[in-house]
Amino acid sequence: MSFSSLGLSSPLVKAVAQQSYTSPYPIQQQAIPAMLQGKDILGLAQTGSGKTASYVLPILEKLQRQAPTTNRSVPVLVLVPTRELAMQVGEVVQSFSAGLPRPVKAMAVFGGVSINPQMMKLHGTDVLIATPGRLLDLVEHKAVQLSEVAVLVLDEADKMLNLGFKEEMEKIFALLPARRQNVLFSATLDEEVAFLVADILHNPVKIKIEEEAVVPELINQTAYQVAAERKGPLLRYLIKQHNMQQVLVFASSIRTANNVVGKLVKNGIEAAAFHGDKSQGARTEALRQFKAGKLRVLVATDLAARGIDIKFLPHVINYELPRSPKDYVHRIGRTGRAEASGEAISLISPEEEHHFKVIQKKMGQRVPLTPTEEIDLAGS
Ligand code: AMP
Repeated sequence: MSFSSLGLSSPLVKAVAQQSYTSPYPIQQQAIPAMLQGKDILGLAQTGSGKTASYVLPILEKLQRQAPTTNRSVPVLVLVPTRELAMQVGEVVQSFSAGLPRPVKAMAVFGGVSINPQMMKLHGTDVLIATPGRLLDLVEHKAVQLSEVAVLVLDEADKMLNLGFKEEMEKIFALLPARRQNVLFSATLDEEVAFLVADILHNPVKIKIEEEAVVPELINQTAYQVAAERKGPLLRYLIKQHNMQQVLVFASSIRTANNVVGKLVKNGIEAAAFHGDKSQGARTEALRQFKAGKLRVLVATDLAARGIDIKFLPHVINYELPRSPKDYVHRIGRTGRAEASGEAISLISPEEEHHFKVIQKKMGQRVPLTPTEEIDLAGS
């Protein structure tokens, strides 16, 4: 199947080819034609499924047929839970719009940074990607108008609700025109999300991408059996031994993440922590450096790491196992994405062995444990 068969015009098809997307992912096959027909969409899918392009491409296609925006009334609004996702979506829109006949202006706005520069730049924005709180601030400052929004996207709606944005979202909905197209993506469909779906969507086309389907087979999983107190040295040993240059390490708590970073840095391995206790500025900077290949190790907690999209991340290491098998799959899904192969390593202490068996059973894959007592970690 090709992108042009989904109803995209040749400038968009060209833009897709420039990103080296050869064929559409399942979510794109289903969402793109439906969105082009003006239908509402309910997408149950995670990061890694290709959900961003599934709504960005039809939005850009529609904008090609409209005059550029010349005021502060945005035609397309994408609501997201975090600054990281806002920036990522902004980058995706930008990467596809370069070279389109009708230029598209996209802007990502979020809290934690000063509002003035955002206000100045908003004029003429076609696609506004925003976290709910900051969007309301901007509306209050009259920097943006929502009365002409024709397409509303809620990306990671479950996470927005989890983060307590419900009230802000309702305030935003009240500012939107009644006639509009609505798209909602969520990893889960729990009760709260179901309420939101009932409130916002009209006869949506339902698309469900099973999580298993997006666990790429290209991930090579390995696991090491190791005493808890030897995990730090083993981590450093593996990083050096395999000459890993870009590693995402998962820890289960902020405290452990900080400790791991401290020990890595002390041993001459550049590392930074990425979690909810870090300021927005510090998180963005760490992610920027990591993406650019200037920071060797990023140590993250699950919550902060959701939604991080890094192309071709070669190594993911579970310093500790996550509680839920779903999070395990989500973590290792950071590698081997976009059709590139990657390596996922788990460090398993004796206390974690049983839990690791549970995870493997749920995942339907066996990962043998490699013993490590024989490895001399003295110098690591
Ligand atoms: P997402 O779920 O939107 O975060 O996308 C996950 C990753 O898949 C991103 O790195 C995209 O660039 C990549 N991707 C999305 N669609 C395709 C496609 N059709 N072909 C190849 N890579 C894709």
